[in-house]
Amino acid sequence: MKFNPLSDAQLKELASMVASDRFSTGASILDLHARDQSAHSACRPEAVIWPETASEVASILQYANRQRIPLTGWGSGSSLEGNPIPVCQGIVLDFSRMNRILGIHEEDFQADVQPGVVYQDLNEKLRHTGLFFPPDPGARATIGGMIANNASGTRTVLYGSTRDYVMRLVVALANGELLEMGTRASKSSSGYNLINLFVGSEGTLGIVVEATMRLVGFPAEYSAAVATFPSVQAAARTVYELKRSGLNPAALELLGPECVALMNREEKLGLAVEPTLFLEFHGASTGQLAEVLDTARDICAAQGCRDFRPGLGRAERDRLFKARHALGEMIQHNHPEHHILIMDVAVPITRYAELLDAMQAEVQMHGLIAYTLSHAGNGNVHLNIAGRKDDSREWALVQEVSERLVMKAIALGGTATGEHGVGLGKRKYMRAQHGASLVWMQRVKDLFDPNGILNPGKIFP
Ligand SMILES: Cc1cc2nc3c(=O)[nH]c(=O)nc-3n(C[C@H](O)[C@H](O)[C@H](O)COP(=O)(O)OP(=O)(O)OC[C@H]3O[C@@H](n4cnc5c(N)ncnc54)[C@H](O)[C@@H]3O)c2cc1C
Repeated sequence: MKFNPLSDAQLKELASMVASDRFSTGASILDLHARDQSAHSACRPEAVIWPETASEVASILQYANRQRIPLTGWGSGSSLEGNPIPVCQGIVLDFSRMNRILGIHEEDFQADVQPGVVYQDLNEKLRHTGLFFPPDPGARATIGGMIANNASGTRTVLYGSTRDYVMRLVVALANGELLEMGTRASKSSSGYNLINLFVGSEGTLGIVVEATMRLVGFPAEYSAAVATFPSVQAAARTVYELKRSGLNPAALELLGPECVALMNREEKLGLAVEPTLFLEFHGASTGQLAEVLDTARDICAAQGCRDFRPGLGRAERDRLFKARHALGEMIQHNHPEHHILIMDVAVPITRYAELLDAMQAEVQMHGLIAYTLSHAGNGNVHLNIAGRKDDSREWALVQEVSERLVMKAIALGGTATGEHGVGLGKRKYMRAQHGASLVWMQRVKDLFDPNGILNPGKIFP
């Protein structure tokens, strides 16, 4: 899609819509909104605006739509697939000043938030209520960005993804109309589920200006365990057995030995350098959790587990998962001369071991530097593959390997992206994954955004 550069008159008009300190065309500000956390190339917008109210967003959209100006939402820019990169330039709406928690409805287990609220800040605010918002992508992501990407994280195996927590949405449509959808009731059979169209749409159908998020009770007790295995396949089989057992782990993460070595080095964890599962369980009492850990130990042992280290309590859980959350960044820091391609495939749990086999075979065949880290409970694997920045052939090889593995995951009944979204990098798989339904997605897009101004260049191949 081709858009004209913004004229001076358009820039002036846009600047007049907000206070002067909330509009910028300054080079350093544009640079800050030109790239996310992925290896995708940067592209500067032409202006950045920090709205403070829903009606400001609506007015800016109305004008942008009339003038055919591309507009991209921006939460924290922590995406990993180029999702917020304004590849057609135009305006970026940065939601960091729309970051108010509008109300906590404790007895109804809900919070009303503006889109720029960072999920950790929401959880901090909820601490005294005994409630929390479970999806945990790890980075300092905003609720708006999480809704747009349908983000999830380590706890998704028990609690679900962001999609499962959106009860009510207010969205500014491309034409500036404010549309409210959903209900405060905990269930509803009324009408089409429009909310689900917007969740995961990466800001291509509308801009979230307010959301009501479901909350859940904080678990009374935590436990964690680390289990090591002779092979990645034995660990993968254990994932299936643990899921079947009804123990309901709150996190079930698989790490290749190369990840464990890195975490030992950086966080002094002192773990055996072997394929490893991190397990987390939530429960009502330490007694109950001790029993759960005993059963988990038996299941792991049956699959050849070499070492099972259980730990009760939140401190133990936090120590392990802090290192797990930091792993992505550790990999980047340890390879300053490399680009890191982060895969995000997910497959049905019965095909999980097969996918890991295919990954190992590719990595070994090509002698690549790669790290296997996986939200195993959801069959979601982030194979991180390194390619030297100054070696275009190696980077092309990394991309070829990733492409083959994504097609393999789709052939196994899976998806190109379990949680990072399509953004720029996964567009090429949309046809293979969705077939005829891609045509209906395009029709939905055309219906909500006929001029194609919302985050253009994303999702569709
Ligand atoms: C170290 C690290 C670890 C990560 N781990 C995980 C993980 O475990 N699981 C996971 O799911 N993700 C993970 N991520 C990715 C990232 O944190 C998520 O995709 C997150 O949802 C992005 O939120 P954000 O606020 O940064 O949004 P941004 O990156 O700013 O934007 C994301 C998308 O949302 C759109 N958008 C932003 N605000 C709005 C709005 N108000 N209305 C409509 N559209 C909007 C943008 O245009 C873009 O398409 C990780 C990232 C990092 C850096």
